[in-house]
Amino acid sequence: MVPRVVSSLFAGIYILLSWSFAQEEAGFVLSSRWFHPRHSQDKVSTVEAIEKFHPKRIDWTYTTDDKVLELYRKRGIPYSLTMNPMVPDSAEYTTQKGRMRTLEQELYVAPWMRKWKIKTPYWGCVNNPDFQSTFLNRGKELLRKGAYGIMVDDPDFNIRLKLDQGIGCFCHHCISDFLRFDSSFSDSEDGIMTLAKKVLKANPEKTETYLLEFRKSYEAFQERAVIDFLANWKQTLLKEFPKAKFLTNNYNGQWKEHHQVFDGGIAELNEHLIEEKKLNELYHTADSLGKTQLFGSNSQQEKYHRILMKYGMEHKRDVLIPWDVYVKGSTNRFYIDYQKFEQLKHER
Ligand SMILES: [Zn+2]
Repeated sequence: MVPRVVSSLFAGIYILLSWSFAQEEAGFVLSSRWFHPRHSQDKVSTVEAIEKFHPKRIDWTYTTDDKVLELYRKRGIPYSLTMNPMVPDSAEYTTQKGRMRTLEQELYVAPWMRKWKIKTPYWGCVNNPDFQSTFLNRGKELLRKGAYGIMVDDPDFNIRLKLDQGIGCFCHHCISDFLRFDSSFSDSEDGIMTLAKKVLKANPEKTETYLLEFRKSYEAFQERAVIDFLANWKQTLLKEFPKAKFLTNNYNGQWKEHHQVFDGGIAELNEHLIEEKKLNELYHTADSLGKTQLFGSNSQQEKYHRILMKYGMEHKRDVLIPWDVYVKGSTNRFYIDYQKFEQLKHER
């Protein structure tokens, strides 16, 4: 028999662990990416979705419209508001000021956004003081509008250029900051540009060591700049809004160093990750870092949405309602039927 004091100690530890690992109380989260109806032809209604789904919270929503936010507030639903590297700097446009430059000095547009017809295609550079203040001002604006937190989509910023094989941003601010970060390759801005051009022209298999070293250093500098930018932005906002939470899109549940600046992640998962064992691992990673985590799926197959809902309910994890979600291979967004949702909710 286990002595009483020992068993109660175990019970205490268990309660403590469940308390620290669980994300408050599990429930359903609505992510109405935009407030519907968006136009006279739009048959979808965000208010109706709220009334049918009874979400505990609204995350990852793009709006600054006070009338919309008043609707959420009246219903007592906490909401986070979203921003991204394309936050406009002037009358809803991403003008040249403050934006990333490729090595060819072109303004940067993410590859998947090149065909989008939008007024704000250009991503801001984290080393540009104009963009730093644009990003900070938008953060303040969102929190002043009563958001409990801010969701930052596309948190890679300058790192995105590395992922697109472009090394990094080569605006004037980035190059001069790099010369302070590492002057062992050149002491002039022209010298840096020449080195970077050589890197991109070189045959990857025959690239000389000093060029590889330069590339590594420039990419490390860009990564560090993104982390510092996000951390400073968060710290500055916390001074005015000490309770604010910061969320980000951590695709596939990854927690790279720049993701770790945030308090929580919301992510789409590839189909191969949507199964019990993989979900356990992903939540374990988030828990061990002390982060909240919410997962969704962009699959056309209902079974993946069903697995995520079932897993969330069984493991007391918040469930992202599959409503107003992007679906791979489709130009239309997916909105789960209310009856179907009820059916999945009660399926065991
Ligand atoms: Zn730059």
